[in-house]
Amino acid sequence: MTLPDLTFEEQAIVDVVRDFVDERVRPVARDLEHADAYPEELIDQMKSLGVFGLVIPTEYGGVGLSTTCFALVTEELARGWMSLAGAMGGHSVVARLLVRYGPDELRRRYLPRMATGEVRATMALTEPGGGSDLQAMRTTAMKNEDRYVVNGSKTWITNAEHAGVTALMCKTDPQADPPYRGISILLCESGPGFSISRSLSKLGYKGVESCELSFEDYEVPAGMLLGGEEGEGFVQMMHGLELGRIQVAARAVGVAKAAFDAALRYSQERTAFGKPIHEHQSIANYLADMATKLHASRLLTLDAARVLDEGRRCDLEAGIAKLFASEACMQICMDAMRIHGAYGYSTELDVERYFRDAPLMIIGEGTNEILRNVISRELVRRDGMED
Ligand SMILES: Cc1cc2nc3c(=O)[nH]c(=O)nc-3n(C[C@H](O)[C@H](O)[C@H](O)COP(=O)(O)OP(=O)(O)OC[C@H]3O[C@@H](n4cnc5c(N)ncnc54)[C@H](O)[C@@H]3O)c2cc1C
Repeated sequence: MTLPDLTFEEQAIVDVVRDFVDERVRPVARDLEHADAYPEELIDQMKSLGVFGLVIPTEYGGVGLSTTCFALVTEELARGWMSLAGAMGGHSVVARLLVRYGPDELRRRYLPRMATGEVRATMALTEPGGGSDLQAMRTTAMKNEDRYVVNGSKTWITNAEHAGVTALMCKTDPQADPPYRGISILLCESGPGFSISRSLSKLGYKGVESCELSFEDYEVPAGMLLGGEEGEGFVQMMHGLELGRIQVAARAVGVAKAAFDAALRYSQERTAFGKPIHEHQSIANYLADMATKLHASRLLTLDAARVLDEGRRCDLEAGIAKLFASEACMQICMDAMRIHGAYGYSTELDVERYFRDAPLMIIGEGTNEILRNVISRELVRRDGMED
């Protein structure tokens, strides 16, 4: 496909990451995945490639590239191993939140070290009681002079053990009506009362940890409030999730591309009834449908990235991209497995990993059921605006 216009520097970065994925990631991903081993060396290499600073402006030591380039880099990483793309997803959302909302003291404190990957960030929204209904969250941060005292728990928090800073969504005013006006985001570092209570076992997305967090009278200085004002956290996070959903869509494109490439190759190598299986019409139809869905997924993802780069609200476009690309990815991975026959079910090939990784994109950064709500609400709102 024709790629969007990238600057010379952006194209070079995508090319370098593609080579990194082919030369360093793909040869080792299967073993790391099966060992559920944290990919320390690969993460270090991603740091030196500048991957953790992609969305951070150059004035804070980042690379300051377009969201389009960010999406293409994410796609490449996920094509190699989705866990690597996950390792920089939440981090990039937190970076975007800091860039957009500050305050400046927090920008200067975190962004330069986040740009190099020295400090990695994660975001903690989901609670054991639920992730979709964020307004019902129960974690509280009550102000006591110059500090907040945090109590509650979070779950499924990616990178929790390796994160130097956690963007914690919590209620600073549990009585607020509507509830979202009582939600704030605090930047939390490790300290007394903040613990990782459990690492969760999961179907795929191995190597990178997903954890439960516990806060018991954990104290955080009032200056760690994102944006400097209470009650802004819900709206701030909705903006952050626009980037997050583009990132998840790009991950889906990357996994789907890997599955499609494997299926296309295998369909030419494998013979049945005296000819390569791609010459059987059923298999040929699978390939055609997979390629079509993959192409559409990438275009939708890049379209959402463009809207974000134009500084426009893009919850509709990001929602559509994430919804379509993740469902397409699931289907493409399933079809890749069918094309591989029994080998698709074997842990000696990568196809089974793509199939296990694909469902996460349906769940993460807002489930696809929630995204349908977001999309339809925004369709109606935009229609009203045009009357
Ligand atoms: C591997 C992994 C990594 C994750 N990483 C993070 C992370 O780093 N940080 C973080 O905060 N969270 C993270 N999550 C959590 C994820 O964001 C949540 O799982 C997700 O938001 C859904 O929340 P839930 O699991 O509590 O489902 P629930 O909210 O309990 O929903 C259950 C089901 O009901 C449906 N549903 C709920 N409400 C509605 C509605 N109004 N309309 C239609 N359907 C509805 C949902 O779509 C879903 O199908 C991660 C999850 C996984 C699996």
